[in-house]
Amino acid sequence: QQAAFRTDLSVLLDQVGAGKESLSFMKRRIRRLTQQWATAANRLDAKLEQRWRDQKKILVHVGFLTEESGDVFSPKVLKGGPLGEMVQWADILTALHVLGHNLKISMSVKELQGFLGVPPGRGSCPLTGPLPFDLIYTDYHGLQQMKQHMGLSLKKHKCHIRVIDTFGTEPAYNHEEYATLHGYRTNWGYWNLNARQYMTMFPHTPDNSFMGFVSEELNETEKRSIQQNKVNNMAVVYGKEASMWKQGKEGFLQILHRYMEVHGTVYYETQRPPEVPAFVKNHGLLPQHELQQLLRKAKLFIGFGFPYEGPAPLEAIANGCIFLQPKFHPPHSSLNHEFFRGKPTSREVFSQHPYAEQYIGRPHVMTVDYNNSLEFDSAIREIMRMEVEPYLPYEYTCEGMLERVHAYIQHQDFCAPEPPFISANLSRQGSPNSTALSWASNVTAPTAWPPLSSLRLLVSQEGQSCVQSCQSAGFICEPAHFRFINNKEVVDSEINHILPAFSVVRRECGLQREPLLFSCAGHSPKYRRLCPCRDFRHGQVALCRDCL
Ligand code: UDP
Repeated sequence: QQAAFRTDLSVLLDQVGAGKESLSFMKRRIRRLTQQWATAANRLDAKLEQRWRDQKKILVHVGFLTEESGDVFSPKVLKGGPLGEMVQWADILTALHVLGHNLKISMSVKELQGFLGVPPGRGSCPLTGPLPFDLIYTDYHGLQQMKQHMGLSLKKHKCHIRVIDTFGTEPAYNHEEYATLHGYRTNWGYWNLNARQYMTMFPHTPDNSFMGFVSEELNETEKRSIQQNKVNNMAVVYGKEASMWKQGKEGFLQILHRYMEVHGTVYYETQRPPEVPAFVKNHGLLPQHELQQLLRKAKLFIGFGFPYEGPAPLEAIANGCIFLQPKFHPPHSSLNHEFFRGKPTSREVFSQHPYAEQYIGRPHVMTVDYNNSLEFDSAIREIMRMEVEPYLPYEYTCEGMLERVHAYIQHQDFCAPEPPFISANLSRQGSPNSTALSWASNVTAPTAWPPLSSLRLLVSQEGQSCVQSCQSAGFICEPAHFRFINNKEVVDSEINHILPAFSVVRRECGLQREPLLFSCAGHSPKYRRLCPCRDFRHGQVALCRDCL
């Protein structure tokens, strides 16, 4: 059946249910953004020009909000706890509904069992019939619950699953046996999925798919009025929980206060949290729309280093603030920081919000060394002199999210056997040290997505990952293309997440034997990697030029 765009969200709002602060938060958000989603749906509808879109049967099982997982988030919604996940789930639900799919929503194990047709309360009684869904969106908690309640059948059906995974899962952590043998085992990983089935909050791990969320958009009139009403010396601090203000923040808060009026939105019960200095005008935790109003007046939104990679900086930039954030030197990662410890990734985070730094940058984003008070001081003074316009990258608009989710739903298929392609034939051009290999023109793969036309083959520097290598050439690493470049018959293949690569010591190429270990992230000082890069659309990095 053909999917038809929906602009009425009332059915969705009923489906989300009630009775918990987290659900109320999501519903308020869905209601507030209704008009914006409707406009975006109409625009994308026109852009796609009547193209056929399959209507899919989709189950969304929000594992972290189930009582069975302990639901630690709901009680913290009004107390400064993390809201990013709820923002994202609200937006995913809305996008799927607006795209016109047949949606079921489950927030408890009982509902999950009901939708899957598994008899309740029978432990891991396997689902015997066919899976009644084309796609299941869930999270790591939900995955665990499905394993417990679908038993063996999870293995059979896992190609239908998509895991919403904020910080990402790298292939070396996802492959159970490899992770166990090589020290990549964590509490989360080792599900042996295709790494593209993990969907992240930001496009930080190209091995995974970028799901994202949306931020509010402004029309031209609103933009102009915001710019006219900006208060040049008003700063809002990023951090709604008092603990984010602890330790070592006094120095630069004092400097900031020399120039600006400092506002905060820190949750408190009865009196000012002791961590928040007296000169800070604390509004308490605000409802989302009131935070937006505050950001419309403020000139500066300033991060203290935590939380990492949340939605708030994008909202601030969309409302015309400059986002000032600390550089991390050395970078934070699961090796040296408590927050990332045990997360299934080795990714190094070079600032509080790497997306803001890398994809947005100046004049909207300034990333400085907070330990250098001169640098910090001059950044504040510069910000007060600067004029910036509200800015929102296309991929974080409703239309951008709809476009991306549409493309994934219609094109990503992890159940089908790999589509056939005609043998690749790599040939080296120029000197042996040349970093570009030419791509033989006799390679075709008519059903591949992203299409092969987007492939750009590169050889990395020694020690460099394909993430970096592709990026420095203005491309993005595309794990779906690994299979095209990993097929020279003469070379021995091994199981190692660095491969395919050229060994600098042995002076030979090694190929990858385990497709689940194709990894953009892998790197090793002894190897120059063979990298499948691709082009991307400006403002929509998840999609290549010919991807729609
Ligand atoms: N937020 C809010 N009221 C506040 C501060 C933040 O509603 O006083 C919202 C904000 O609009 C954003 C969400 O909290 O969408 C998540 O913010 P953050 O970037 O802090 O990420 P988190 O750590 O909560 O996931």
